[in-house]
Formats: sequence, C-alpha cells, structure tokens
Amino acid sequence: VFDHVVRAPEDPILGVTVAYNKDPSPAKLNLGVGAYRTEEGKPLVLNVVRRAEQMLVNDSSRVKEYLPIVGLADFNKLSAKLILGADSPAIQENRVTTVQCLSGTGSLRVGAEFLARHYHQHTIYIPLPTWGNHTKVFGLAGLSVKTYRYYDPATRGLNFEGLLEDLRSAPSGAIVLLHACAHNPTGVDPTTHQWEQIRQLMRSKALLPFFDSAYQGFASGNLDADAESVRMFVRDGGECLVAQSFAKNMGLYGERVGALSIVCRTADVAGRVESQLKLVIRPMYSNPPIHGASIVSTILKDRTMFQEWTIELKAMADRIISMRQQLFDALRGRGTPGDWSHIIKQIGMFTFTGLNSEQVAFMRNEYHIYMTSDGRISMAGLSSRTVPHLADAIHAAVTR
Ligand code: PMP
Repeated sequence: VFDHVVRAPEDPILGVTVAYNKDPSPAKLNLGVGAYRTEEGKPLVLNVVRRAEQMLVNDSSRVKEYLPIVGLADFNKLSAKLILGADSPAIQENRVTTVQCLSGTGSLRVGAEFLARHYHQHTIYIPLPTWGNHTKVFGLAGLSVKTYRYYDPATRGLNFEGLLEDLRSAPSGAIVLLHACAHNPTGVDPTTHQWEQIRQLMRSKALLPFFDSAYQGFASGNLDADAESVRMFVRDGGECLVAQSFAKNMGLYGERVGALSIVCRTADVAGRVESQLKLVIRPMYSNPPIHGASIVSTILKDRTMFQEWTIELKAMADRIISMRQQLFDALRGRGTPGDWSHIIKQIGMFTFTGLNSEQVAFMRNEYHIYMTSDGRISMAGLSSRTVPHLADAIHAAVTR
C-alpha cells in the first residue's frame, strides 16, 4: 500500500551533515549545522551541565513520573525570568503564561497552533531570508506565511527601509516573526534605535510580535543584552509571544528543552490562554520530557551555578567572535578580492558569506568543506587549525 510513496529530499540544513558523513576525506569540514564545537572540533558539554546532571543522579528522591502538560513549573518560571528580566512588570503582574516545549522548534509550533485556533489574523510575516524551518512550522500549523524584506545582499546588512515598508503595508493585526538576536542565517540584527522604530510601527498597526529566541547569550556573551529586543516590546505593556531554546546557550541540543511564553494584557487572560495551550499540547505529545528541563532549572535557580554558566557561555561566544577575526585576517592576508568586513560585523553563530551556490559546490567538491547552499557557514564549527583551509577554499572559489 505504500508503493506510491516517493522519496523526499533531505532537509536542506541537516542534509549537509548527511553528505559530510559520507565523505571519506580527512580534510573534511562541516560548517553546515549550527552546533557549537570546541577548538578541537568536538561537541561540548558544559561543566555546569555535567554538575547539574550529577546532582540529579545523586538525588534519590527524583522519580520519572510524567510532568504536567505544561511541563516543570520551576523551569517555566525561571525561563520567563531569563528572557523577560527578573524585574519584568509583566511577570510581577502574572500576565505571562509559560509552557515547557520541545526546544525552540516545538515552542514555535505550539505558539503557531495556538494562534491558528485563537487569534483573529492568520497571516504571519517572516524575514527574507530566515531559518528554513520557519515556513514549514507556521504553514503546517495553518497560518498563511508571507515574507518581509530583511537582508540586503548589496550591503550585506539590513534592508531597513524595505523592512519598514513591508510591515507598514501588512494588514492590521498580522503576526510578525522576529529573531530576538543573532538572526539566522544572515547574522544581521537591527540596532537598538532600529528596534525602537520597528516597535513603534508594529504597535501603531497592532502587529503581533512573535519572537524566536534561539541564541540568548550566544550573540554578545551577555544574556540581558541579547534579550533587549524582546524586553522593549514587553515594557510598552503590549502582547507578544516568545519561543525560547536552550539548545545553543546551554548546549542541550538533543535534550529538546525550550519554552513558549505568551505575554498577555491581564492575569485573567493569561490563565485562559494557558488552559487553551494545554489543549494544543495534550493531543500532540501529551507532556514534555523531564531531564533537560531539570538540568536547566537546577542551573537557573542556583546563584553559583548560574554564574558558572554565564562564564562558560561567554567563552563560547568569545571563541566564535575570535573565529570571525581569524577568518577575516586570513582572507586579507591572502589578498582575497572583495570586502570581507561583514565576517566581523555579523552577529552570532553564522556568517552569511555572500558565496553563491556554485562557489559552495566548488568548495564542497574540491576542498571537502560543507555548508548550506545559501553560503551560510557556522563559525562555531571552525577552529584556528581549520581557518587556513577555509580561507584557501574561499580564495580559490572567488578567484576561479
Ligand atoms: N530558531 C532558529 C532561528 C534557529 O536557528 C533554531 C536552531 N537552528 C531554532 C529556532 C530551533 O532550534 P531547536 O529546536 O533545536 O531549539
């Protein structure tokens, strides 16, 4: 009965790793998937995470019962505080509902399903370009997906005028997906002043902000600075949604731990919204897994462990920033034609190199360097040892 099923293409991002794994070359380099690697090219488990896991294992009172539909209560409270700020009036006024979800992706999906059922406007605007999964997550939840201009290839920066124009012409009440910081794939973020203009325009048109926060702390090394865009929208008293992921900033990729917060006008509304979120979650996966959320809440509620986490987080962010500088210097050293300053200007895990798909294919075939076909490279996958190989490949690709 399944004879008619056609083979689906590999995921454009995860498929890069599939191809990389098949390559026998010892010089191969995977800059496709956005996961942190050490200077030695190894995945990293943070010391503070290991310590939290030890504590959990040693605590014999811990059991493996189901969590409630909305997840671990402590985790939800602490996650909201982390993104909105400890002194957030919205939290103090109990107008935020937070539910634990399956990492950032699951949080986006639960938020989207809720909006499709309970929000009057079904159009969501996502930046062009954006993380490839956004279109599918929102589309399959039943929202109608449109794009707003974001990246300008000519300047390799923000197309701010285009962005404002597109949001200005969006229908009143439309949902707008915003990357809280470290925009993926471009590494281009609005300045604080530009965020303020975006906020004013969106509020004046009653556009509903849906923040995707997958890189808090990873952009600047500072958790508060990376949450500022979200906090600006919460300070004005209006509504918003935030999908949070602990994949990158705690290195908990495979634990699938994240949270969806919905900031409402009143505590009463927040309570009703939460009751409906439960109806979204229950038939989807019943309730979320316990282990990752226990790690996060163990770290967030202990002052010393929290401190230790921020130091390890900053070290990851700093290593990425140093890779940017090293790659930039290596290209300058080779006299590679073109202005490569965007490598040091862009923010977060990725550099949007500006290499075209032909050049990407050339680098894969001749240098065994793997990246997504849009020319996005994960700076977290680079090291001082591999920078020269990448710089050689880029140089060869652009001077061919
Ligand atoms: N949003 C963005 C912008 C991302 O880059 C990612 C991860 N690549 C996610 C969401 C989701 O990540 P996860 O589901 O692993 O938390």
